[in-house]
Formats: sequence, C-alpha cells, structure tokens
Amino acid sequence: MYPLLQRYLLFLIFLTYAVELSSQSTYPVNYFIPPVDYRIFLSGTFGELRDDHFHSGIDIKTGGAEGKKIYAAADGYISRINISPYGYGKALYITHPNGYVSVYGHLKSFSPTISEYVRRQQYKKESFAIDITLDKEELPVKKGETIALSGSSGSSGGPHLHFEIRDGLTQQTINPLLFGIDVKDAVKPKIQAVKIYALDASTRINGSTDTVSIAVEKRGNTYYLAHLDTLRVTGSVAFGIQTFDQQSDDDNPNGIYSIELSQDGRSEFSIVTGKFSFNETRYINALIDYAEFMKSKRRFIRTDILPNNRLSLYKSVNNRGILTFQDEKLHKIEYVVKDVKGNSSTLKFYIRSFKPGPFDVKLSAPVNHSSVIFHFDRPNDFTAAGIYLHLNENCLYNNIHFTYSYSAKKINGHSGIHRVNDIYTPVHDYFDLWIKPDSVPAKYLEKAFLVKLENGLPVYAGGNYDDDFIKAKVRSFGDYVVAVDTVTPVIKAINMTDNMNLNGLDSFMFQISDESSGIKSYKGTLNGEWILMDYDAKNNLLKYEFDDRLKKGQNIFILIVTDNMNNTNTYQSILNY
Ligand SMILES: [Zn+2]
Repeated sequence: MYPLLQRYLLFLIFLTYAVELSSQSTYPVNYFIPPVDYRIFLSGTFGELRDDHFHSGIDIKTGGAEGKKIYAAADGYISRINISPYGYGKALYITHPNGYVSVYGHLKSFSPTISEYVRRQQYKKESFAIDITLDKEELPVKKGETIALSGSSGSSGGPHLHFEIRDGLTQQTINPLLFGIDVKDAVKPKIQAVKIYALDASTRINGSTDTVSIAVEKRGNTYYLAHLDTLRVTGSVAFGIQTFDQQSDDDNPNGIYSIELSQDGRSEFSIVTGKFSFNETRYINALIDYAEFMKSKRRFIRTDILPNNRLSLYKSVNNRGILTFQDEKLHKIEYVVKDVKGNSSTLKFYIRSFKPGPFDVKLSAPVNHSSVIFHFDRPNDFTAAGIYLHLNENCLYNNIHFTYSYSAKKINGHSGIHRVNDIYTPVHDYFDLWIKPDSVPAKYLEKAFLVKLENGLPVYAGGNYDDDFIKAKVRSFGDYVVAVDTVTPVIKAINMTDNMNLNGLDSFMFQISDESSGIKSYKGTLNGEWILMDYDAKNNLLKYEFDDRLKKGQNIFILIVTDNMNNTNTYQSILNY
C-alpha cells in the first residue's frame, strides 16, 4: 500500500511538472494592464505563506488609504460578484475572452452601474452577503474602465487591493506577475536560517540525534552557516529554510518565488509558486515546519515531502527530498532562492558524511508513548470517558502517536479540559469531535457548544447537543471544553437615539457583538420592510445608508441580531425624517 501510494504521488508530481513546463511559456504577457494607475508596491506576493493558506494573488498597496480607482485589467464581463463580511469582502470577478479571470478584492465600492446592479440583487435576496454569477451580456467592461474604488472590506488587515488572475477552466490561481504586471524588483531574497531534521533514530547530526536550527550569515554575495562551514552527518536527514523577499524601494517582507536544493551540483528538490488550486491551499501546513511555526511563529519551508502531502507546487524532487549520508565523503549542499524577477540568493555549506559507528546504529532509548498510532491513510477513532473522535483517512500528513489527556479543572467551561493530541500537529480536514458536558443544566443543553482554548482564551468551535454529547466538526488539535451561551448579543447605536430627527444625516451605524458564541445573523427593517445594512465583521459595524426605504415623516426601525446559539436581541426605535 505504502510504496504504491508513493509511486502514485511521484507520478502526480511528474504530471504536474510536465503540465507546468508546457503552460509556463503560454501566459500572455501584454494582455493585462495593471489594475491601478501608479507604481505598484506589494504588501503581499503570490504564494506567500499565510495562516492555513497560500496567498492566492498579489496585495497591491493603496497608499494606506481607501478610494483609489481600480481598473478592469482587460476587456471582458463581470462574471461574479461576491460580497461577504469576511474573506475578500466586496469582490469583483471579470471573465476575459482569452479564458482567464481577473479578481479584485477588499473593495470599498463599485462603479455606479455595478453598484446599482448589486443593490437590486441584495434587495431581491434580502441579504447584504451575496455571491452571484452573471451572464456575458449583463455587465460588460472595457480594458481600463473604472470598475471600483479600493477599500479594506472583508478580512483585510488594512487598505489594499487583492488582485488575482485565475485560469477560468481549471479555477487554478496563477501568479499575476507571470503576466507581465510590472513590479520593480532588483533586490535579492534574504535567507534567515536553515534547519536540519534528523529523520531516523540512527541519524546523527554533529554527534546528536536532535534536529538543529542554524542561523546563516552573508559573506560577499553568498550565505553561509554562521560560525561553522561543515556539519558531520550520518543517516537520513531533510532540510528546511527560512527566507523572504523584498522589492526595490520598499521594506515589506514578501514571499519568494522558487527554492532549489542541490547536493554536489545535482538537483534534489525544487518548488515553484507559479499556480495552485484552492483545494490544495491547506497543504501549507505540511509544507512548513508546523510545530516550529506554532512554537516560534517562524515559517521554515521543509524541503522534504511528508507522506500525505499532495501539494502541486513541487517540481522535481528525488526521494521525497530525503538525503541519506553513509559514505566517507564531503558533500556540498546548496540552496538557491529566487524571486519572480529572477533575483537569486545562494546558501552554501558542507556535510562531512560518515559511516555509522556501532554507537550510532543503536536505537535511542525507546520513547514511552502511552498513545495510539493514527495512520494517515486510514480512518482513525478514539474513545475515552466523555469524548469520542473520528478522523477520516487523509486528515493527517503522516502517521502520528495520538495522545489524549483530561484535566478536571474548569477554567472556561462546563466540562474539564480535553487535551486532544497537541497544537503542534497539523490536521488537514474536519473531523468529528464529541464531548460530554458534565455540568450543564438540562434547560441549557441546547445552548451548549465547544470552545477551543487558544493561548488560554476561548474560541468558538461550533457543535450542538445530540444524544448526550456536544457534537462538532473541527480541524485542529488542542484543548477543548464545553461552554454555554445564554447571553444575547449586544447592540449599540452609534449615531442614533429613539425619536431622533434624521435630517442632516445620510446613514446610521450600529456596533454589534457577541462575547461567547459570536454573531450568526442580523436583520434590519424600516416600517416592516427589509433594509440593506453593510456588515463589517472585523470592526463589528453595521451601517445603513439612507435610500428610498426611509420615508418622509415617522419611521419604525427594528434591528434583530442573533448569535450562534440562537440568542436574539432586538433594538427598536422611532425615527423622523
Ligand atoms: Zn491578498
């Protein structure tokens, strides 16, 4: 089973490689114009390493402000409009006659024509959040036409434009800089550190069985290991590298484009962030050294491939990136890191390989795992008092020793703390987690849910009471407890009071929040009719911009906010206009 899977994966990698080679040269380089009319600086590059995903486009700076004009990158038609309080916020998708789709995210507002169309759809569906696909004839656009103003809507950390180019057929997203979108960059990538992983019990790195992390320093144009040049190694190892890129006249730390690892001049591993599918983006947790990231927030890219890592960014890889040293020779190891403009940096060091001595082949003292093995290629179940777990196959990147412990101490919830494995092991997909509440009064059971404790703070993890358990689907290991939410959401009017005269205003705003399970939905009405209220989840803001639903004279305004455990709060006021 195992070698077969390996062979299958290698075949997949070969296929991707072949496809990539043939398509790389076919990206049209003069087809798209930049979506802004000033020199482009990036606060994020394509394929950049983010939490649980690769960055799927480029983040174009907008001078720290909202309201920059955004232009259609080429002729085409608006094929999708997605508006959400999260994610890309207000986003437009343009399908072009050559089969590519350009995407514009975190917008503040749309052009008058698009805006009018969107409002009609929102009122028709009685929802601020919409995701609609359009026909060719509805909203055609011309290259260079102003389609929107830049903003910071959705899950945005600050004003910028998120820009993507996708293949309309495969829905893969492609590095927009491969289409000739011009970004000045003469700065070489920076290499910060390297890690050497001891993969077997008999592996020795400088005499030790431990994985080592080594700082690097630049001498001349090349990076070397700081304080030493040569490592003594026997057995199987893998490498990892911490690196980032910068662009000319800017200090933003951005992602790199490619990494190649070679031994004695022979390429052993390479990865290129040219394009990927959205359904593989979570494999980032297998690409990076996840445990290191959870401990130190440093992202090392591992240049070996975990058994169940199906990421397509890898190009040519020998033996899954694992290097074995058993001869008595000196080997040259070289990393070459490039940005998309071809600026490159090299890290060089040597490995003095040696034959394992009698001491080295002795296994280390057996680790006493009071645990069960979870296999990545099979379903896994676990039961203990008050807890049940089920993982489908392919939830894990490799086999793990699953550990579980329980602490009766109640910190934040209505159960003790269930430690489900540890936060240092990544999980690819949702799994069933059932926990028995042990001190929830019967009348509150329907208000019970699971929270995960993250740095001691409770984070809503979903779930509902059913058959003695709170049953949830989660996709990370860690500490879980049962919590109860019987508290209604908070509604705070910002610029409105009861019986207020609205003359002179053009909008009103509310702050809505829910401390425990979080906001699920909201509904605002004027005189019994639904009104469009923009929801900015990251700032907890609801905003109504006056339109024809606001009548001359007296209006009755009602806002109902519901949290995830169905507690509702209602705000009501009489407004004069
Ligand atoms: Zn972005």
